[in-house]
Amino acid sequence: MKRKNKYVKKKKTGKGLTITLLVTALVGCGLVAILGFNGWDVEKSTQSVQTFFGLSHAPSEQAGSKLDVEDGKTDEQIEKTSGDVTEQGGDAGSERREMTVDAGGYIIDQQLPEEPTYINQVLLANKKYPLPSTFAPGEDPAAREAFDKMAAEAKLSGFNLTAFSTYRSFEYQKTLYDRYVERDGKEAADTYSARPGYSEHQTGLAFDIGEVNFEKHWASSSFGETEAGKWLAANAHRFGFILRYPEGKEDITGYMHESWHYRYVGVEMATDIYNRDITLEEYLDVK
Ligand SMILES: [Zn+2]
Repeated sequence: MKRKNKYVKKKKTGKGLTITLLVTALVGCGLVAILGFNGWDVEKSTQSVQTFFGLSHAPSEQAGSKLDVEDGKTDEQIEKTSGDVTEQGGDAGSERREMTVDAGGYIIDQQLPEEPTYINQVLLANKKYPLPSTFAPGEDPAAREAFDKMAAEAKLSGFNLTAFSTYRSFEYQKTLYDRYVERDGKEAADTYSARPGYSEHQTGLAFDIGEVNFEKHWASSSFGETEAGKWLAANAHRFGFILRYPEGKEDITGYMHESWHYRYVGVEMATDIYNRDITLEEYLDVK
């Protein structure tokens, strides 16, 4: 941030030649840094550079609504990615490297863990806390029971809710993700699909909710504008569900707002999170 401000200030003073030289030097250093960071592997470095510059043209309208709702997160990632490349130099120091985030928002070279992460007995799965590939609990029975109860009450208000995607195994997520990468490329796929091991659906506690006969709103931001979507947002906590990726919290959750994706945490915690208007990450105090 500081670096950026300085740069802007200097630019305003109009010392054209100095700036040109400075920028040239910085770009040169950056390229060396990227090359060093990638273990002097030119091909890998080229990919890094492409990823970096690809990001500066934030994609928006080219791939339909799903991409649109996921776009906003790239700004923060541009900052993070560029910041890391600049500051890191050729040093592949272990601790810093672990916190280096790639274009998809994932920690670079992170291995899937042996055990899932529980914080205060709450299972956490996000881009920084992935799950073991062997973690396969299936759909959580308590979450299903709570959903059925919620759906029954929603029906009294005229909404016929369904959970169109709940538990997804590691293998299934891998199939999905690989298919998206093949179709749209890795960078685009990362904006709307979790990499295998990183999906909250693998916990069996995440429910993608929509309305029967309104498939057009399924997994679409438009669901949040429907009466059913609004009812859900206002009532889910009473049944133990939280809106997992709220609007304006993209930098905390790592995902764009998803009006259809709910996570079961139990009534007490869900109510607390709802009343305090926070995310699961904030509740658990993880970064
Ligand atoms: Zn989902």
